[in-house]
Amino acid sequence: MITIKVDMDKCQHYGQCVYEAPNIFKLNENDKLEYLASADETERENVKSASDICPMQAIQVFE
Ligand code: SF4
Repeated sequence: MITIKVDMDKCQHYGQCVYEAPNIFKLNENDKLEYLASADETERENVKSASDICPMQAIQVFE
């Protein structure tokens, strides 16, 4: 299992993470980010890519 935390004070809701890990991140009908706080190992690389690409460095991944 991995644990995911997004600092919503930093997040600007641009959605780059959604492209990298669409099973974890989505923009809701108000264009605000929603995400799963935990995921299984199969999502690890996608979530790490999302964390790397986030322009606000808002995504943290805990092993
Ligand atoms: S890429 Fe970062 S700033 Fe953009 S929506 Fe995702 S968490 Fe928020």
